[in-house]
Amino acid sequence: MELINPRTFLVVANLLGLLCALVLWVQARSFPDDILGLRDWARAVFLIACASGLASMRAVLPDAVAIILASGLLLLGQFLLVIGLLRFNGREPHWRPTLDAIGAVLIVITWLTYGSHSYQGRIFLMALAHIGFFSFGAVLAWQAEPKGFGSRFLSVVFLLGAAIAIWRLTTLSATVVDADEIFDYSLIQQVYLGMFSLGVLGLSIGFILLANDRLRVELEFMATRDPMTGLFNRRAFFARAETEWARSLRSGRPLAVITSDIDFFKKINDSRGHHVGDLVIKDYATRSARTLRLPDILARFGGEEFVLLLPDTALDEALQVAERIRQDIADHREPALPPYTVSLGVAVAQGKAGQAADIQALIAEADAALYRAKQRGRNRVET
Ligand code: GH3
Ligand code: MG
Ligand code: MG
Repeated sequence: MELINPRTFLVVANLLGLLCALVLWVQARSFPDDILGLRDWARAVFLIACASGLASMRAVLPDAVAIILASGLLLLGQFLLVIGLLRFNGREPHWRPTLDAIGAVLIVITWLTYGSHSYQGRIFLMALAHIGFFSFGAVLAWQAEPKGFGSRFLSVVFLLGAAIAIWRLTTLSATVVDADEIFDYSLIQQVYLGMFSLGVLGLSIGFILLANDRLRVELEFMATRDPMTGLFNRRAFFARAETEWARSLRSGRPLAVITSDIDFFKKINDSRGHHVGDLVIKDYATRSARTLRLPDILARFGGEEFVLLLPDTALDEALQVAERIRQDIADHREPALPPYTVSLGVAVAQGKAGQAADIQALIAEADAALYRAKQRGRNRVET
C-alpha cells in the first residue's frame, strides 16, 4: 500500500529541517550569550536535515552515503539535541562515551548493510538509538527552566518520538521486506518517516518556545531588579506597591513602610574604598531580606537607601521588624567588612481613615521619620 513515496517524506524532512536550522541559527545569534544550547540545536537540526536529504537519495547515491553516512549524521544530530538541552540546563555535557557508542553503531550498521544485508537489523539498531536519545531529551526538556509551555511541549514531542520508535521496534518482525526494494512502503515505515519530517519541525518549535520562555524570564528579571543586590528597583517597587495600596484601601487593613539608610556611609567609602562600600550595600541587602515574609517587598531606591513594604502590618509589628533589622546589623558584623549601622523610619497607613494620600506620601512620612532618626543620633528607629 503506497501512501506517500518515502522519498517525498525524506525530501520534505530535508527542506523543513534546513528551514528550522536557519531559524534556530538566527535565533541563536540574537539571543543573549548566557542562554546556551541554541547553536547546538541549530547544528543538530542541520545535521538531521542533511541525513534526511542523503537518505532520500537512496539508489542514486552509493549505500555508503545514503545509508551509513546518513545514519551517522542522524545519530550525531540527535546527540547534539541532547547536548544543547544539557547546556541549556546549565550542565556540561560529556561527549566521549556517546561518540564512541555512535561509532560502534555505525560499524555494526556497515556490517548489516554490506555483510548480512539485514534491513531489519538496521532499523532495530537505529530505533534503539532514537529511543535512547528521545527519552533522555524528554527528561531534560521536562527539567528545563522555566517550567512553562515550551518545556512541556518539547518534552511531549520527544516522548512522541520515543513512542513511535518503540512502536517501530515492536512491529519490526511483521515487516515484510523484499530484498530488492529500495524503500519500505509499509504503513509503519511511513509513519516513522513522517515522524522525522514533522518531528524536526515540532522539536524546533519546542526549543524556540523554551528559549523564548527563558528570555522572557531573564528580561523581566533585568527590568525589575537592581543589578547589584538583586532586590526590586524603584519602578518594580511602585508597580507592586500600588497594588498593595489599593488592596489596603479596599480591605481597611494596615500597610506599613520602612525606609532605611546606612549611617555615615560616605566615611566607609572614603576610608575603605568604593568597593568595600558596595560590599556593605550587598551585605545589608541580604541581611535585611532575611527578615522578609512572602508578601513583603524590599527595594533598593538608590545608593544605600532601601524601602520595605509590609502589607497587612500594623505599627507595632512594623516597629518590631525595623528594630530587628537595626539590631541584627549593629550586633552581628560581617568579619570581612567594617562595622556599620542603619537608621530606619516607619510609617503606617491604617486602611481608610486619617492616612496618607497615596503610596508616595506614605513613603515621604517614613522618610521624615528616618530623617528624625538621623537627627537623634542614628542607629535607631523612628516613626
Ligand atoms: P548619613 O548617616 O547621614 O546617611 O551619612 P551618609 O554618609 O551615609 O550620607 P548619605 O546617605 O547622603 O551618603 C550616601 C553616599 O553613598 C554618597 C555616595 O557617594 C554613596 N553611594 C551612592 N551609591 C553608591 C554605590 O552604589 N556604591 C557605593 N560604594 N557608594 C554609593
Ligand atoms: Mg547614609
Ligand atoms: Mg543616603
